[in-house]
Formats: sequence, structure tokens, C-alpha cells
Amino acid sequence: MNKAEKAQADGIVVVFSPEESCVQCNATYRALDAKGIKYRTITVPEDDDETRGMLRELGFMQFPIVWAPRVGYWAGFRPDKIGGIHRDVSQSYRDGMFWTRCSCGDEFAGSDPDDADAAAYEHCFPEGVAR
Ligand SMILES: [Zn+2]
Repeated sequence: MNKAEKAQADGIVVVFSPEESCVQCNATYRALDAKGIKYRTITVPEDDDETRGMLRELGFMQFPIVWAPRVGYWAGFRPDKIGGIHRDVSQSYRDGMFWTRCSCGDEFAGSDPDDADAAAYEHCFPEGVAR
């Protein structure tokens, strides 16, 4: 399993980006950061024929190429796609309960931190982490 596949199996957003700086990549990082969504960056060097070939087979020619659970793959800076990502981003304690917040804004309560996370996980990945 390569780095990207490992992240996908864990439901972590993956951003494939080139070595040179990329305006749409930076816009994508900023939007993900603003929503508190964790992601893994995979730098794809010019000579990484294996990864480039895999991405071309998916039909993508333009960086960044992004994968998110329940959304799938897309290319370029797509605020609409980023807005559709469900991922637990933070947890807080109030009113005697633990609350795990999703990147969509919904919150899930539990009597302990793991309960709250489990409820959020059900929401983010209703059928498990799907490709
Ligand atoms: Zn959500």
C-alpha cells in the first residue's frame, strides 16, 4: 500500500501536487486549512511516472488532484467539492457532554470523547470509508 492508499484507507483527504509552486494547490490548502480539515500532501515529481500514470488513467491532467472520502477525486481548486467534505475537525466539552464537530458544521454529542467521535464517524462515513 503506498502513502496515498494508506491515507485513503484512513479516510484522510489527499492532495497530489507538483514540486513547483501551484496557485490552485495553494488555494486548495488555504480552503482546507480554513475549515480545519486535515490532509496529506503527496508531492508528485516530474519523473514519478507511476503516480502520474495512475492520475492520468483517472482522467486528470491538472494539479492539484484531490481525493476526499464520500466525494472521490477532483482536479483544480474546487470550493464546492471542499464544501462537501465531511470530516471530524474538532472536539469540545460543554453542557456536560463531549461534542465532535464535522467540517460541514454538524455536531455530535457523546458522554465521553470516544462516543462523540464514534457518532461523528457514523455521520462522516455511513458505509465505512468508501472510495
Ligand atoms: Zn458533516
